[in-house]
Amino acid sequence: MSTFEEFGLDEAVLKGIKDLGFEQPSPIQEKVIPYILENRTDMVGLAQTGTGKTAAFGLPMLNKIDVSSRETQGLVLAPTRELCIQITNELKLYATHVRGINIVAVYGGANIQEQARSVKRGAQIIIATPGRLNDMIRRKLVDLSNIDIAILDEADEMLNMGFVEEIDTILDTTPKDKQSWLFSATMPREVENISKKYMADPYKVTVGNKNEGADTVTHNYYVVNQRDRYLALKRLVDANPEIFGVVFCRTKAETQMVAERLIEDKYNAAALHGDLSQAQRDSVMKAYRTKQIQILVATDVAARGIDVSGISHVINYNLPDEIEIYNHRSGRTGRAGKTGIAMSIVTPKDSHRIRSIERIIKKKFNKEELPTGMQVCESQLFNLVKKVQNVEVDEELIAPYLPKVYEELGGMNRDELLVKFISIEFNHFLEYYKNTRDINASAGGSRNANVKRMFINIGTYDGFEWNTLKDYLKDKTGLGRDDISKVDVMGKFSFFTVLTENTQQVVDAFQFLEHNGRSISIEISDKPDRSSNGGGRSRGGRDRDRSKRGGGDRKKSYSHGHRGSGRSNDRSSDKSDRKSGGSYGGKKNEGGSSSGSSFKKKFASKKSDKS
Ligand code: ADP
Ligand code: MG
Repeated sequence: MSTFEEFGLDEAVLKGIKDLGFEQPSPIQEKVIPYILENRTDMVGLAQTGTGKTAAFGLPMLNKIDVSSRETQGLVLAPTRELCIQITNELKLYATHVRGINIVAVYGGANIQEQARSVKRGAQIIIATPGRLNDMIRRKLVDLSNIDIAILDEADEMLNMGFVEEIDTILDTTPKDKQSWLFSATMPREVENISKKYMADPYKVTVGNKNEGADTVTHNYYVVNQRDRYLALKRLVDANPEIFGVVFCRTKAETQMVAERLIEDKYNAAALHGDLSQAQRDSVMKAYRTKQIQILVATDVAARGIDVSGISHVINYNLPDEIEIYNHRSGRTGRAGKTGIAMSIVTPKDSHRIRSIERIIKKKFNKEELPTGMQVCESQLFNLVKKVQNVEVDEELIAPYLPKVYEELGGMNRDELLVKFISIEFNHFLEYYKNTRDINASAGGSRNANVKRMFINIGTYDGFEWNTLKDYLKDKTGLGRDDISKVDVMGKFSFFTVLTENTQQVVDAFQFLEHNGRSISIEISDKPDRSSNGGGRSRGGRDRDRSKRGGGDRKKSYSHGHRGSGRSNDRSSDKSDRKSGGSYGGKKNEGGSSSGSSFKKKFASKKSDKS
């Protein structure tokens, strides 16, 4: 296990990251930083989202800047204004103790003259969106002729946004012998091409498998009919009262519509998309970072690369058109060693796309049932009860008001009081959910066409029952619990159903396997898939589901002024959340009084002040 100290970073930089509570380099940092510190080289760094790529390029870049010169030596290109600001803030934090350094953000929608003045004061590092930077190049407001390091962050998104020509023009004004570093979470073919185009024999670092999803994220999906999409979203949010999430939509119009409906329904939500003015986008991001907004509804482009700490859930209102985007979305949660949940709302028609996503991100999805109205109410109630249990009472401050309160309420007994207090918060849920229907749609209709019945020559004689056989099949084939259904165990053989696309995988898995000395034979049966859903036996998931909901899935608690009703932010619980901010693995001190937690706390508040 290496440390930042061994990398040979400057003292001032080390001090900066120590303040932030970085105790150990993340895997991408470990591979990239020492190498590019020691070598002049082009490089390509691929690693999942949230793994600390900014520091992987930012720290060595800071080391290589000559602060005695005021020339611009480092350039970072990023696809959106939000990312540009985020990277700038992050680099400024790393450079807190580096004297004489000037880091300037250059992006559209803000005053160009002001940015030009900041650059002119001697910006050794510029973080820019391509459009605005080109503008400034044309107007001779920047000089890139002394660039030593040029970095493309979120390179795939820059391609998606059609920035190739802009990037060409920009890089043409930089020296040929500079170092180029490219960072991305996914590696579509085009990124590979771009790396070939701009780089000579780059040093390549890949952490994890290409395009693989982060291990810290759990992937769940819910099948509903198109018309119930919004209702499903509401249920998911309501069943997770402490959610701090991002809801992804496919278009700006849909983003706006979903956000407006949520706001009308009294959720603490806001939209983030490209049709908003820059000032609006800034204020939304600021409010979200400081957790004044609980649900951010966003387009893919607007939320690309966003690093907001503590996002608990990412909800895909729709599946994205491109699978790679799924990774970018889900990567907003489960960052910096924390865990998160990605939930996708799909219609029966696109439920098959889940399999393709699974294959690419190499992660299994769990098919979950949407909670019933009653389950939602239960988790809300439970959450309220928890809050009552945990609220800190300031005896002194409240004392002067108590006599009046006793006077008014003293006549009620304990039970009456309890019920009334709970009803204040809870009535609208009971009301809303009192007659709700089950909105889970079966993926069945479309699935039946896509499934195959399979035969296997083991059964009860071999000691199997349907559930133990299912476990056995899962284990040997690597398929998930929802991929194998309708397991019928007979004496010497059994039948089960899998998706057509998985049949080969099943056949392959058993090719050389034996059971009790008998070689296993498996084949696709021509028996039709039986139409019942297995008498519900294999669906006994309700309790399992329940235990995951209603508080069970939450590692930490926030308070975010939920649904307007005068409950504004509870600062104290906000703080305790920040304390739980993670560092990568082996934190030396878990005890809470550790330097790490207070550093992280400082970091969190610093960060939100600046952004
Ligand atoms: P990426 O660009 O790979 O998606 P970021 O660079 O945005 O990830 O980093 C994600 C988060 O992890 C940031 O909040 C960052 O401050 C934090 N972080 C980065 N490196 C470390 C580290 N070594 N220890 C603790 N936190 C880190
Ligand atoms: Mg990044």
